[in-house]
Amino acid sequence: MNNTYYGKLIFELSRPGRVGYSLPANKFDEKYALALSEPLRRQSGTLLPEADELTVARHYTNMSNNNFGVDTGFYPLGSCTMKYNPKLNEELCQLPELNIHPQTPDYAAQGNLAIYHYTQQMLAEVAGMSECTLNPYAGAHGELTGLMVIRRYHEKRGDAARVKVLVPDSAHGTNPASAAVCGLQVVQVKSLEDGTVDVEDLKTKLGPDVAAMMMTNPNTLGIFERRIPEIAALVHECGGLMYYDGANLNPMLGVCRPGDMGFDVLHINLHKTFSTPHGGGGPGSGPVGVRAGLEDCLPNPRVVYDAESGDYSLLTDSEEALGSISAFLGNYGVIVRGLAYLLSLGKENIAMAGKLAVLNANYIKEQLKAYYKLPIEGLCKHEFVFDGLREEFGGDHHEDGHVSTLDVAKRLLDYGFHAPTIYFPLLFHEALMIEPTETESKDTLDEFIEVMKKIAVEARDEREMVLSAPHSTPVRRLDDVKAVKEPKFTYKAL
Ligand SMILES: *Cc1c(COP(=O)(O)O)cnc(C)c1O
Repeated sequence: MNNTYYGKLIFELSRPGRVGYSLPANKFDEKYALALSEPLRRQSGTLLPEADELTVARHYTNMSNNNFGVDTGFYPLGSCTMKYNPKLNEELCQLPELNIHPQTPDYAAQGNLAIYHYTQQMLAEVAGMSECTLNPYAGAHGELTGLMVIRRYHEKRGDAARVKVLVPDSAHGTNPASAAVCGLQVVQVKSLEDGTVDVEDLKTKLGPDVAAMMMTNPNTLGIFERRIPEIAALVHECGGLMYYDGANLNPMLGVCRPGDMGFDVLHINLHKTFSTPHGGGGPGSGPVGVRAGLEDCLPNPRVVYDAESGDYSLLTDSEEALGSISAFLGNYGVIVRGLAYLLSLGKENIAMAGKLAVLNANYIKEQLKAYYKLPIEGLCKHEFVFDGLREEFGGDHHEDGHVSTLDVAKRLLDYGFHAPTIYFPLLFHEALMIEPTETESKDTLDEFIEVMKKIAVEARDEREMVLSAPHSTPVRRLDDVKAVKEPKFTYKAL
């Protein structure tokens, strides 16, 4: 939408002397007058916007409309599972009965602790683990917590030499980052042509210094790693543990469980698989699960249940445990949302979510592979990766002025879609990673497919127009690197 207010800063709408109120003169006694002392009064010449109330209302409403979210349109951001966040979850987590002070004593918080404990158990069951902590605030925070659990486990056995973490080259960037933050060394394991882990390369990297192997399955290419049992046996044989990055548990839900595949520790993202808001939409939660024998290493506080007395309590001082990794119990409201999602699907329906997500991803892939390069043929899981446009549509990697993945992503904005994930994973030069999730209708998928085809044809026939997209957004091609390195926090009139 284009109007006077669209894409403008409030300073640009400012007019000298305009104010947002008009109050009657104060007829009350002098002694009630609110007098600001001189240093607190506004000095003339202060650069503050001056605008009437309606302009301010329109300004902020238009600004909020510039936001793109799952509630605005299709958001096929690969590796992010931007599924719909049911409004039921919001209603339940805002129940006044649930919003208690975090320092409420255990005896007065039994209901809240029961919900927490129940969620711990349900997630452990879904993942095939023995116990979970819901304390971490995000996926990466869960990874760090999980790796700290692993380090603790090795230390407890007196095995301090295990300082390496094996990470496939297709891994999400947070995996090596979390290992490094945990003080461990990252060793990369190669992928084969089909996108799965190269087991022969892995064998050369195993040894008494390996603390763990981190894996994502289906991996970031959306390919199922078929050799997990063999990989787990190799890693366990050398004394290491298997870490599962379960940020995207979506395609596994109710179908198979990381615990049954030989993983020892994992994290789950409630703000992906379990439908809680994501990114700018809200805080996250990255529960960590462990197999039997590792429970004592989980961080404090833990919610435990005493079957004899029927009481829930907080374990805060167990010596074996990691210290606190979050304030109190983590993001409680997010945990309630995740539980609401689990319960509203039920054990009966949970397996449908992943299967539909897989079907949707394959549907888009098959319809578009005549237009975009598909480096790995065959069935994908919940997401897949194109390697840019096919050559006949102008996607030649080596030619100057070719239409890149960035150009396609920018053009999609003109059609009202959020762009897919681009240039990740790093295995392909022009990666375009699409994850539709199960919550989109066939109508939306068909609309997206049509637009993607249209962009391919435009790239061939109207190259300049695609190269200069987007044409309909308030800002167009931003310098991403400069935005990070030299962010501008203040307004300066041009
Ligand atoms: C999103 C994601 C993460 C990180 O989760 P955050 O909550 O963003 O920290 C880790 N691994 C994979 C595979 C992911 O998709």
